[in-house]
Amino acid sequence: MLLTIENLRKSYGTPDGSVQAVVDVPVFSLDTAQQMALCGTSGSGKTTFLNLIAGILKPDAGRIELDGCAISDASEAGRDRLRARTIGYIFQTFNLLQGYTCIENVLLGMSFGPGADRRRARGLLERVGLGQRLDHFPRQLSTGQQQRVAVARALANRPKLVLADEPTGNLDPASAAESLGLIHETCLENGAALLLVSHDREVLGQFDNVRDLAEINRAAACPSAGEARS
Ligand code: ADP
Ligand code: MG
Repeated sequence: MLLTIENLRKSYGTPDGSVQAVVDVPVFSLDTAQQMALCGTSGSGKTTFLNLIAGILKPDAGRIELDGCAISDASEAGRDRLRARTIGYIFQTFNLLQGYTCIENVLLGMSFGPGADRRRARGLLERVGLGQRLDHFPRQLSTGQQQRVAVARALANRPKLVLADEPTGNLDPASAAESLGLIHETCLENGAALLLVSHDREVLGQFDNVRDLAEINRAAACPSAGEARS
């Protein structure tokens, strides 16, 4: 297995002093190069779940093993290194660095991993249809084109796993379908597994393998069950 999760828990404190359990996942796994979509309503913990897998957040309890390494036990710096080596992340709002060009955005992503490889960066941008836009800044691109830069950046370090957080939420339906096809294909070409979260039926319809987050995450199945007065 590429990714295995056991007894993963994450809660947040709320302004009224109670504690809200957001993630409570007894078991979850993903195989090498497997593609899976998780559906869940807004607030069901999709982003939190992906951020735990990416090591952006540290769990309160439980274990996340990714490519043989326990990212859940690592220090923050260790999680950063493991993420740079193993994971590509496509954020809902893309998170491109606005002061840098397309190719610089991809190269900067590489600098946290195996090191800048201009040929690969250019090849990836060409693959996503942006060969004529290498030196454009994000603001000079359409939303769909910015999203494709984010796809190229996510694949830059040859990740074993690509995480995608509602990646087409900001796109019109035609661009969304096209972009999703591109994410599917480029993950396959690069041998990367894909875990995508969405609440959009159109998006979910493009996956053979769709699971309901509520069946995996007990906190999403019954949000109020996790709330306890402190
Ligand atoms: P989704 O991505 O499915 O919409 P999130 O993972 O963003 O869900 O959020 C799940 C729940 O956790 C929501 O109720 C949200 O308000 C809460 N939450 C998310 N991030 C934080 C945070 N940093 N602090 C407190 N509560 C948070
Ligand atoms: Mg979210």
